[in-house]
Amino acid sequence: MPLDHLGIAVRSLDQAIPRWESALGQKAGRPEEVPGQGVRVCFLATGTGALEFLEPTRPDSPVGRFLARRGEGLHHVAFAVGDLGAKLAELKGHGVKLIDPQPRRGARGHWVAFAHPESFGGVLTEFVQPGEPSP
Ligand code: ZN
Repeated sequence: MPLDHLGIAVRSLDQAIPRWESALGQKAGRPEEVPGQGVRVCFLATGTGALEFLEPTRPDSPVGRFLARRGEGLHHVAFAVGDLGAKLAELKGHGVKLIDPQPRRGARGHWVAFAHPESFGGVLTEFVQPGEPSP
């Protein structure tokens, strides 16, 4: 299963992005707001995947609470899947605890779903179905 991206929580996209761009010699895309999750996100392609920077738009959002608890840093890993609905059914069958039992719209118009860190060794894990077709 290909790695799609790594999510990194930051307090400010405006401060974080230029540092990463100059370190990696690569330009980030445009920031996008995901209102349902209370975040602004920005992707930076790395050649074999991407980094997703997440800035909370409110302190009580999941990323806002993460920052308050743990500070800036790695927030989640995301894998690309072809059929997210089927993948979620398979995960449920294996007893994986899902945060999103159904696919929902995430950044870039993709379908996404998160699984609970307790099912993945303490790592918040996201599954992403790229593209437009609804599951
Ligand atoms: Zn993500």
